[in-house]
Amino acid sequence: MIYDAVVVGSGFSAIATVCNLIELMPSSASIAVVGDDPGFGRGTAYRTELHLHRLNVPAGRMSLYPDRPNDFADWLRARERTLGAGDFASRQDYGLYIRDSLAELLRHKKPRCRVDVIKAKATGCVERYGAVLGFQLDNGNEIAGRNVVLCLGVGNAKLPVDLSHLSAPARSHVIENPWRLSWLRRVQAADSVCILGSGLTMIDQVLALSAHGFTGAVTVLSRRGLAPLSHVRAPKPALDIDIAALPTRMSLLLHTLRAEGRDADDWRQVLDGLRPQTKALWQRLPVEERRRFLRHALPWWNIHRHRVAPDVFARFDAMVRSGQVSIRAGYLLDVEETDRLTLHYRRRGTSEVVSLGADWIVNCTGMERAGLAHSPLLNEMHRQGLIDADPLGLGIAVDSGSRIVHDKSSAPAIYAVGALTAGQFWEITAVPDIRVQAQKVAQSIAETVM
Ligand SMILES: Cc1cc2nc3c(=O)[nH]c(=O)nc-3n(C[C@H](O)[C@H](O)[C@H](O)COP(=O)(O)OP(=O)(O)OC[C@H]3O[C@@H](n4cnc5c(N)ncnc54)[C@H](O)[C@@H]3O)c2cc1C
Repeated sequence: MIYDAVVVGSGFSAIATVCNLIELMPSSASIAVVGDDPGFGRGTAYRTELHLHRLNVPAGRMSLYPDRPNDFADWLRARERTLGAGDFASRQDYGLYIRDSLAELLRHKKPRCRVDVIKAKATGCVERYGAVLGFQLDNGNEIAGRNVVLCLGVGNAKLPVDLSHLSAPARSHVIENPWRLSWLRRVQAADSVCILGSGLTMIDQVLALSAHGFTGAVTVLSRRGLAPLSHVRAPKPALDIDIAALPTRMSLLLHTLRAEGRDADDWRQVLDGLRPQTKALWQRLPVEERRRFLRHALPWWNIHRHRVAPDVFARFDAMVRSGQVSIRAGYLLDVEETDRLTLHYRRRGTSEVVSLGADWIVNCTGMERAGLAHSPLLNEMHRQGLIDADPLGLGIAVDSGSRIVHDKSSAPAIYAVGALTAGQFWEITAVPDIRVQAQKVAQSIAETVM
């Protein structure tokens, strides 16, 4: 069967796109959503079962629908999940909300278009009759659509060093995918853990270790040793920032923003003022300045921009202060198999090589902006000339409507939603941005389906 729309992926971007398509498409239309996530709809971020893993965006900004901002807050209220001012909901609840929202539409929206939810991985694709794209699935089936929306996320970053020389038992102590929390059951309370990467994923893992009764030492190693900063319970109003007046040379831009931050009562007001305009600011920057930003300013941007809930920060900070968690800045060179694992790294800003023993190594280098490399499906589509990488290698090249640009006249309509489109939009990793993009893409598709 040829669907009017095939959505590939099973995280937030896919579900937001599907929910909007269901709302907008005529009852004669058909949609398939294909995803391999066991917790269909929750993706990487919201499948956690630990209640202490919190959202880093207030509930009032996490509705699935940009034009119904209270949807998530109402869902929480209806389930008597009361949140105090400045509290952040759990990511587990958010995952349930996404799944409930889709289930609700499937149950109650009548009449509605046909929706097939297919639990499978799309492994390859083939262009058929010009304007139809077919996908091979790992369950042996094939599906095809006139419109395709790629919602594949960006994948997990690979470890920065080659570990093929380690024996199998040693390798089993290297956790490459920390999202599967089952590894925590194998850790002894007094083991030592080295976490690579010092972003939000690292904080998740430290809190998860602590919740499992871990009392050993955690060493965090990242190139700059910068960890996320905290939201405040009573934020001051965002500053009004005129982005047209900001310089487009990266060094001057950063200088100006730092000065604004120093002059403000709280530097967060500057970031909060920029937030709704980041996309527009990014699009004003020449490609070379965007490249400079990625090379020099990204770690600083991340820790100031992607902040953690105050109580999450307080727990983490207490572990740092007690000495249980230590953060080091350095460049990992090698991992050696000794009686346990020994990491060798170059201390930042020096040529000194430091050795560090650990029972476990956990890869928290984060979601990789790996371009197309992380996904066999994207590689295959690229090979067939169906998609292209964006000039910065962040993901897929799309136009301002999130549609893949082709020079062929009868090519299938392929869209991408989520962080894969960072080359065009930059700030497209969090719900407040993705939900707007998903709605626009659904509108563009619905306009073509009678
Ligand atoms: C730990 C964490 C916490 C976060 N917290 C917040 C927060 O509090 N607030 C916020 O706004 N944002 C948060 N984010 C950002 C988050 O990335 C987005 O909110 C959103 O979840 C991204 O969803 P996605 O669907 O684009 O990607 P993903 O969640 O990565 O989902 C992609 C899905 O596609 C599937 N897939 C991939 N390839 C194929 C294929 N070939 N065939 C079929 N399926 C495939 C994958 O299995 C996966 O399920 C967080 C992110 C992380 C990682």
